[in-house]
Formats: sequence, C-alpha cells, structure tokens
Amino acid sequence: MQVIIKRLKADKKTIGFVPTMGALHKGHSSLIRRSCKDNDITVVSIFVNPVQFGPDEDFRRYPRPLNNDISLCEKAGVDFIFYPSVSGMYAAGFKTYVYVEELSNLLCGKSRPGHFQGVATVVAKLFNIVRPDSAYFGQKDAQQVVIIKRMAVDLNIPVKIRVIPTVRERGGLALSSRNLYLSREERKDALVLSESLRLAKKLAVSGARNAAGIISAMKRLISSKKSTRIDYVAVVDPDNLKPVKRISDGCLTAVAVWIGKTRLIDNICLRY
Ligand code: AMP
Repeated sequence: MQVIIKRLKADKKTIGFVPTMGALHKGHSSLIRRSCKDNDITVVSIFVNPVQFGPDEDFRRYPRPLNNDISLCEKAGVDFIFYPSVSGMYAAGFKTYVYVEELSNLLCGKSRPGHFQGVATVVAKLFNIVRPDSAYFGQKDAQQVVIIKRMAVDLNIPVKIRVIPTVRERGGLALSSRNLYLSREERKDALVLSESLRLAKKLAVSGARNAAGIISAMKRLISSKKSTRIDYVAVVDPDNLKPVKRISDGCLTAVAVWIGKTRLIDNICLRY
C-alpha cells in the first residue's frame, strides 16, 4: 500500500480514504461515494482491529463477509481496498499507542475502556500508511469523529476529516454492521433508539431547554421496550463531549443501548 501511495502522490493524485471494519452497508457506501466524488483515488481499508475490542466484546464473531465487501467496493468505484492482516498491523514487539485524553473516557469510553485508544492508534497507523488528503467518517460514531479530529490536529497529520450524515433504514434505525446480530423482535425494539432522538428533537422544538428533563423522557421511552438496557443517554457539547445542563442549538444528543446482547449507538445534533 505504501509503495502504491508513493506512486500516486508522485502523479499528483488526490487521495480519499474510508477506514472501515468491513461488513459494508449503505452507510459505508455513502462515505465511499463522497470520497469518489471529491478525490482522484479512493482507498477503503477493511480491518477488524483487535486493539479496539474489549476482552468480552465481539471481536471473534464480528461479521467478515469479504466477498460481499469487495463487490460493494467495486460497484461504488473504489480504486484500492487495503486489507491488512492483524500480524501485519501489529507485528511482534508492537509497543506504541495513541491516547486522546479526556475525550476517550466519556460516553462510550466509560463502558468500553481502551476502545478509543485502539481506534486512535489504528487510525493514526492507517493515516501514516495511506497519507490521505481527506478521510471520511460517519456522524453515527460522533465521539469517534471528535477524537480523530483532535488527534489529527495534535499529531500534525495533514488530513481533512469529512463527516457524513448517518444513513438510516426507513423506520429510522441507523445502519450498522452490528444490526446483523439482532433477532426480528430485537430489530423492532431497536427502533426506539432513533425514536428517542426524535422525541428529544420534538421536545427541544417545542421549547424544552432542560437537558435532564429531555434525558428522563428519552429514558422512559427506551425502557418501555422489553429487550432494552440503557448504557447512557446524554446531551453534550459537540466539541468537548461534556454534559450540558441547558440545551443550546447544535448540542449533541447521544444514546447507547443494549438490545439483548447487542450494544447499539445513535445520535443527533439538536437543532430547533
Ligand atoms: P465501521 O465499519 O462500523 O467501523 O464504520 C466505518 C465508518 O462508517 C465509520 O466512519 C462509521 O461512522 C461509518 N458508518 C457506520 N455506519 C454508518 C451509517 N449508518 N451512516 C453513515 N456512516 C456510517
């Protein structure tokens, strides 16, 4: 990959990069399409990164439908798929990690210790390999976006971070590779994540400004579904991810909810 990138750079090609863990869906295609539109060359990485999974998480059973992923990339006009092995990315003697302070310990970082260190480390490595002009991330993983932006600035990595809106199913469920784990009943219950975000928006539009009130209404709605267990419901400042007491235009409302054994996340920017 590094040899190819060197040649492309010598030819003055602009490079767009879409890092993924595979099991690609229309959310990923949306990032890919945008990259293809903006750049001469689009590189997609497919790497289920062991370092961002906790010991009790789903690293082993994470879906890896490589042939489907390749055909989705081909159809979308991807120029290169970077598909490294775990031992290629983390060779014997690996010792260096990237840790973005504070931002990594809030929200999802509380229940997934080490997760964002794994994400920041692999994305820094991928940026060094692919050296993209622009990299494309989904708003669905809002905390990841904030952390990667911070990391790129702090480590002087010359890449533009582009954020693409969340792609949803018709009922509102945000597309996610982990939706594959859901049973038919769970899939119905999972609609409550986006419903709760719509409720937050409705309350804000009708004048509610107290974050605690909005959070309790969302929690009540989510808890009304049988298979749900709330990890967090939060209203935060979109730049530093700290909780806000009074909501203001553009603040981030984020939820993480277990549906049976599957943990799903979603968020919206509250605009009113
Ligand atoms: P993943 O393969 O889950 O690590 O995701 C790779 C990239 O796709 C990340 O930047 C995600 O935020 C983005 N992504 C995942 N799901 C969606 C979605 N429903 N809409 C938009 N982007 C998404």
